[in-house]
Formats: sequence, C-alpha cells, structure tokens
Amino acid sequence: MRFLCDEMLARLARLLRAAGYDTYLARGGQADDDLLRIARAEDRILLTRDRRLAERAWPASLLVGGRGATAEAQDLAAALPIDWTHAPFTRCVMDNTLLDDAGLQDVARMPPQARVLPGPFRVCPACGRLYWPGSHVRRMSNRLQALAQILPQP
Ligand SMILES: [Zn+2]
Repeated sequence: MRFLCDEMLARLARLLRAAGYDTYLARGGQADDDLLRIARAEDRILLTRDRRLAERAWPASLLVGGRGATAEAQDLAAALPIDWTHAPFTRCVMDNTLLDDAGLQDVARMPPQARVLPGPFRVCPACGRLYWPGSHVRRMSNRLQALAQILPQP
C-alpha cells in the first residue's frame, strides 16, 4: 500500500513513513487536480480531511475524521490493514526517501553519545538526516508499537 496525505495530515504522513509506508505529503496549496493525478499515476490511496476530494478519488481514498495523529491513525487502521511495525525506520520521515546504511563519514557526524549505541545507523541520501536508535527514534518506535496494539474501532 502506498499513500498520499493532504497537507492537513502531515503528522499522520510522518507516522506512516516511520512505519515504512511510501507516503507522499501534499505541499501547502497544491491543487486538488494535481493530487488526484499523482494518486492515480502512482497507485496511492488518498487520505484527506476534505470530503469533496475523498469523493473525487473514490474508491482509492479515505476520509479521515479523527483529530490528532492517534485518532487519524485509528481511522486509517479501521479501514485498511495497516501494520505499524511494517518496516520501521526504513524511510526518511521528512521526505519519504528510502534510507541507506550510514557510512563511516555519516557516523562521524553523529553526536558521541549516539556513536556508542549498537545501531542500526541509517542516513537519508536525499537530505542527509541521520537516524540512530536514540531517544527520538525510540519515542517514535514506542508510538508505533502502541498504535499496533490498538484494535480497529468498528
Ligand atoms: Zn530525508
């Protein structure tokens, strides 16, 4: 499953990327026609708060009603077989690029307290952002684990 999130669902897009799902996030002000074209061309399920946009992309769309990332994630899991532990931290949460294993030069850019961790150390080839199992990744990881425990609401 691949997704396209409207600009209102940026936090949900980051959660999906952290779980390993290929997720396009709309830029602010990007035209609906453009989003519909990308969703169709790239076979993406359109996630949106906009009822009209959801209707136009139907059936490859989901109208998200819940407020806040957890409620949004619950809406999604109620409609689709989402696995929040799919492939954690294989994509950059900022730009959706698949991560590479970090090289020695990348590891050298990490803070000293990160370098002593057991890894894995990853790097985004697009933006250079580094990922290591420090507090931020752990928090996000706990978040995904918690979401995986939540049963879909009927
Ligand atoms: Zn990146």
